[in-house]
Amino acid sequence: MRYNVLIENGLLLYPEKTEKKTIGIEGEKLRLLPPGGAYEAERVIDATGCYILPGLIDPHTHPVYVDDLGAISTPALFGGVTTMIHYISIKPGDSPLQVIHAARENAEASSHADFAFHASFFDTLNQLSSIPELAREGIRTFKMFTAYAKLGWMTGDYALIKAFDTIAANGGMACVHAENGPAIDFLEDKFRPITPDNFPATSPGMLDKEAIFRTLLLAKLTECPLYLPHISSRKGLEALVLGREEGVRFWSETCPHYLTFTWDELKERGPLGKLRPPIKTADDRDALWTAVEEAALDTIGSDHAPKAKTVTDDFESAPYGAPGVETILPVLWELGVNANRITPFDLVRLCSEQPAKIFGLFPEKGRLDDGTDADIVIFDPTCKWRIEKANQHSNAPYTLYDGFPCRGKIQKVFIRGRLVVDGDRFTGGKAAGKFFETHPGTLM
Ligand SMILES: [Zn+2]
Repeated sequence: MRYNVLIENGLLLYPEKTEKKTIGIEGEKLRLLPPGGAYEAERVIDATGCYILPGLIDPHTHPVYVDDLGAISTPALFGGVTTMIHYISIKPGDSPLQVIHAARENAEASSHADFAFHASFFDTLNQLSSIPELAREGIRTFKMFTAYAKLGWMTGDYALIKAFDTIAANGGMACVHAENGPAIDFLEDKFRPITPDNFPATSPGMLDKEAIFRTLLLAKLTECPLYLPHISSRKGLEALVLGREEGVRFWSETCPHYLTFTWDELKERGPLGKLRPPIKTADDRDALWTAVEEAALDTIGSDHAPKAKTVTDDFESAPYGAPGVETILPVLWELGVNANRITPFDLVRLCSEQPAKIFGLFPEKGRLDDGTDADIVIFDPTCKWRIEKANQHSNAPYTLYDGFPCRGKIQKVFIRGRLVVDGDRFTGGKAAGKFFETHPGTLM
């Protein structure tokens, strides 16, 4: 047997163990080999001193704005993210199937990373009849908003429970952006003009808690599996505890920016840090870290939504969102592993194995098992560097992490056996990203 690549002397990371194994890449798959054997390969990589991680799976990306379906894959791979589950917006009047087909065609032609899709409904009552046909095409997760009432994107309770009922009947999973939209709209009207100083008052965590708990109960009533992205507050976490008490089947995510920043630290950057849900207080950040440490949150998603914003833009009219897909791993390693909040085991559970299992991409993705897709990140935990706009690959004109010091750096990234990131160089060649159907709800 002659392998395409051998990766020797690295320490393979799993959620429950490390293993010293040689990885042999055979086409698109990885083989686990006893270390020290005499193997033949076209190329041998010495990973002494490095961890070997399974490629990260980012369950929360928005491939619109300044990074499209192709462009987003470059920062993703530089960040060790080999698979993304993109939110594909289905706007009022759109044909859901046509939108999904176009996105798939576009991504197959332009994405270097692998991908799956969530369908985002912006007009749920008129769009939920597409759930069965979308499910047949491998799109089985459906996003709705309880926020954004004034914008007309909100799904009210009637439509929400009806969608849950349909999703459950079709083997799918609901993903809900849960904040109380009408109450936020009222508070915005009350405090207008909205400034960095009064922004937090428009979105108190209490309104997360109300919407998350309501969503959990509606999911329970319909036996619909539920995924709650971007939990951002202590109050939101309290709702998850209540949901567990009610026996709801759900999974939850937070994002690196909620674990990194407080609004007090960020507000001088004005529009750049304007996100939805907003970044909140040090107390919220502490509560989120505790939840991550205690495995009360299941995944980490980037909510990558890069916009062309500058610090001097008008705050009130600035759009929500920031880039993030490239910084998940270095930021979590620095603030989580290096700060002794989580272990490297936790990190691969949160960022690879759990998202693969929750969305049914397992076992091809998410874990370094023999015969799985060779999505591999070689990570040097000793290398010191700083995140700077200049070393990032998103088209966004800024990163919230500018100047952020890191110990631990990605050295190489493989996707399905191909070396796509080699140090600072992109070696991906022609786009070869592959679409994956999701199979949510198979994990109990
Ligand atoms: Zn999002």
